[in-house]
Amino acid sequence: VQEDIASPKRTNELLKRHGLVLKKSLGQNFLVDPNILHKIVSAAELDKSKGVLEIGPGIGALTQQLSKIAGKVIAIEIDQRLLPLLQETLSAYPHASVIHGDVLKVDLKPLFDDQFQGSDQVSVVANLPYYITTPIIMKLLEEKLPLENIVVMIQKEVADRMSAKPGGKEYGSLSIAVQYYCEPEIVTIVPRTVFIPQPNVDSAVIRLKVRKQPAVEVEDEDFFFDVVQASFVQRRKTIYNNLAARYFSKETKGQLEAILLGAGIEPSRRGETLSMQEYAQLSRALSAALE
Ligand code: SAM
Repeated sequence: VQEDIASPKRTNELLKRHGLVLKKSLGQNFLVDPNILHKIVSAAELDKSKGVLEIGPGIGALTQQLSKIAGKVIAIEIDQRLLPLLQETLSAYPHASVIHGDVLKVDLKPLFDDQFQGSDQVSVVANLPYYITTPIIMKLLEEKLPLENIVVMIQKEVADRMSAKPGGKEYGSLSIAVQYYCEPEIVTIVPRTVFIPQPNVDSAVIRLKVRKQPAVEVEDEDFFFDVVQASFVQRRKTIYNNLAARYFSKETKGQLEAILLGAGIEPSRRGETLSMQEYAQLSRALSAALE
């Protein structure tokens, strides 16, 4: 039986023996608290029939716990220096393998086809590198991979934005993009003291349960997300002013009030008060009017 990696003593010993100095630029903050690891792993609801994609295994603290439960674990790590170390720490788990690469550049569809054919369901489970949290999540969602769950440790502030409901200052285009594809749930808040080295922000574990169908029906997804984005360009301005600036000229903006009212939306409201359903209605009405 392999000793658990997630303790300050073992982590420091491994880093020292391999002569590794961690890189801040790669978001290398390693988890050294077994309780948090167990919370992450149990939120993913894994068993032997399931596959896991991990992003950024580091020295394998989370990979090890995932490998004890899941049928197959594939981890993508950008830092080549960690590969010999991972080979050592994961040697007891033949169904876990590490791919060297940048997750933002790896073509995930063929990787899923190759690696997860025998798995019933696949989850992404990771303690993400914080400098690219949003691009990673958006890549996973937009590529429409066959995912059941995404359970990730991210900055608390980003987790709050992903799970925000209409009406508050955290609610914005990220909330809508994530909630279009998933049902988010914050699993636990994590203090910065459980990492080596400690990051400058508090963290949260969030679970994104991937929906079988998007939350609302829209004809043109790109246009729907464009309308959402446009509505938050200047948060303090009304929906009318933001949309007028994006889609209309001085001459044509006369019709915007009627379009908004036709979609059931008061022109004086701010973008942060509109629900996803209202954005769907609005994008349909706008697209018909702009044709
Ligand atoms: N999983 C480990 C843990 O929980 O202790 C390490 C997590 S650490 C926050 C993030 C990891 O992501 C680091 O190992 C880092 O090298 C890796 N990483 C950073 N950028 C990456 C990228 N673009 N693609 C893949 N891995 C990346």
